[in-house]
Amino acid sequence: MVGSLSNRIIVLCSILCLLMALLAGLLLEGASQMRDSLTWVTHSSQVLKTANASLQHLQQAESGQRGYTLTRNPEFGEAVEVELAAARRATGDLMIQTADNAAQNARAAQIRTVVAQRADQLEEVARLARAGDFAGAQASVASGRGRYLMQLVDARVGDFLNEERALSLTRTQIVERRLNYNRWLVLVGIPIMLAFIGFMAVGLIHRVRKPVDDMMTVMGQLGAGDRSARVVEAMKSSEFERLAKGYNAMADELEHAVADQVDSEERLRVANLELSQNTEVLRERGEVIELLGGMAHRMQAARTDEELASIIRVFVPRVLPEIPGALYAHNNSRNLLVPIAAWGGLEVAAAGFAPDQCWALRRGQSHFVVEPGSDIVCAHATTHGDEETHHYHCEPLLAGGEVIGVLYLKGVVGAENRFRLTVLTENIASALVNHRLQRGLREQTIRDPLTSLFNRRYMEETLALEIARASRSGSPLSLVMCDVDHFKRFNDEFGHEAGDAVLQAVSAEMRSRFRDGDVICRFGGEEFTIIAPGTSAATLANRVEIVRQGISELMVQQGGRTLGSLTMSFGIATWEESMERDGSTLIKAADAALYRAKRDGRNRVMLDARSEAIAA
Ligand code: GH3
Ligand code: MG
Ligand code: MG
Repeated sequence: MVGSLSNRIIVLCSILCLLMALLAGLLLEGASQMRDSLTWVTHSSQVLKTANASLQHLQQAESGQRGYTLTRNPEFGEAVEVELAAARRATGDLMIQTADNAAQNARAAQIRTVVAQRADQLEEVARLARAGDFAGAQASVASGRGRYLMQLVDARVGDFLNEERALSLTRTQIVERRLNYNRWLVLVGIPIMLAFIGFMAVGLIHRVRKPVDDMMTVMGQLGAGDRSARVVEAMKSSEFERLAKGYNAMADELEHAVADQVDSEERLRVANLELSQNTEVLRERGEVIELLGGMAHRMQAARTDEELASIIRVFVPRVLPEIPGALYAHNNSRNLLVPIAAWGGLEVAAAGFAPDQCWALRRGQSHFVVEPGSDIVCAHATTHGDEETHHYHCEPLLAGGEVIGVLYLKGVVGAENRFRLTVLTENIASALVNHRLQRGLREQTIRDPLTSLFNRRYMEETLALEIARASRSGSPLSLVMCDVDHFKRFNDEFGHEAGDAVLQAVSAEMRSRFRDGDVICRFGGEEFTIIAPGTSAATLANRVEIVRQGISELMVQQGGRTLGSLTMSFGIATWEESMERDGSTLIKAADAALYRAKRDGRNRVMLDARSEAIAA
């Protein structure tokens, strides 16, 4: 338990006040006693003075008496009276002055008595002298009584003075003792007082300075950033202990507040980091979506599968960089996954693979192998050597709840790329479905449903385009018009369906015989047109001759019966700059050549007159 500093100060100050009061009291008491002693010394000297005065007055009277007796001068007689009165008064005073001291008072009474007797004797002599009886006066003087009385007075006064001097000495000694006592009181009391004050000051300074130093040290540590700094030293007083406690509580609060602040700053930093990461993720996702939007837009506009493949080859490596892969889609009969495009240097088998060779297709969800033996390897993946590398990823393409293909990736798709993969497959799937839908619709508008050849409208559009291209490039462009000979007979003889079967057989034959770049169209009824870009009439004539030959060798079957053989007539014309650019003149020229072939006996190939001339 530590005492209170203020209580200690009060106690010490009280002790100091008491000591000072005691010292002052003792000094005052000493001074008072000394004053009393001095009074007595003064009194003694007064008494001595009075006693001496009475003796002197008496001696003066005696001396005056003697002179009067000798000279008889009355002035001496008067002086004797005066001196005797003074001597009597002095002895009276002496009685009063020694009233406090019985022994001296008794001696004073004796002095008064003998002085009175001597005075009486002197007055007697003086009375005789005044009466002129100088002889009687002289006789009285000569009797010796005067001298005897005087000796008695001297003896009495001498005793009295001795006693009074002894008294005075004693009283003077008392005064000196008092003086010494006071001096020692001052010499001892003041240093004791000073020592006490010093001791008190040192004690108080110690009790104040150490806690202040300790607290200053801790405050300095706190100021220098040490938030755990606390006052642990003993504070030596309840006031400083309260101060230290208060300071420690404040430091605790500060530490908590700082810790809270640090904590919230950390949370803020983490939130900021998350926000910036999210922003980065959102930005990246935005970029991916924009990229895929561009891809989807192009895929929508793609007319051919090759265009579609080119778009995929460009965009997929941008979305999933450094991962080679291939896109497979179901064929029309859905019994095979055929490759649509491959990228990153991956070789794919054109034949594709059966749907049950892929676990992603079987299960309708992602299937991947990231390390050896972690999952079963798809049979189709072995063709890419994935059994050795042991990692690949198959992502099914889903559209309208139906699997339409699979995205094969030769590598691991990390978590950071999952979003890209998901959005990519969704985009490709919907673009693929769209493309196929568009292609189907377009096919419907440009194909003849019976023969699957291009229709007349498509032929006319294509011809105008090819004329423009030929005109620009200067390459030749030839056109064939052909017609089945005596077709009507099939209809008449075997029925309309048999006629249709003949048209289909002829179409198939032509499709197989002409080049890929040639555009084979059904012009109408049993008439057909073939646009042959980059081909001269003479070259085309040779190929048409082969076609004619092939058709003439056909034996068309329909409904389990043989319809017999058939022939076709062909007219060929080559485009010239002088012709109409919409193709009508060229068609007319080929038609004219066909007409000539019919006229000349059918089952033959005829060139338009100008083409013939050029060929020749
Ligand atoms: P030629 O040797 O002079 O060409 O004689 P042809 O009988 O082939 O010619 P014609 O113009 O007299 O007869 C054509 C017939 O083809 C008339 C028409 O009924 C028939 N036809 C046209 N379109 C179709 C079709 O889509 N299916 C069938 N089955 N017959 C058609
Ligand atoms: Mg015909
Ligand atoms: Mg015809």
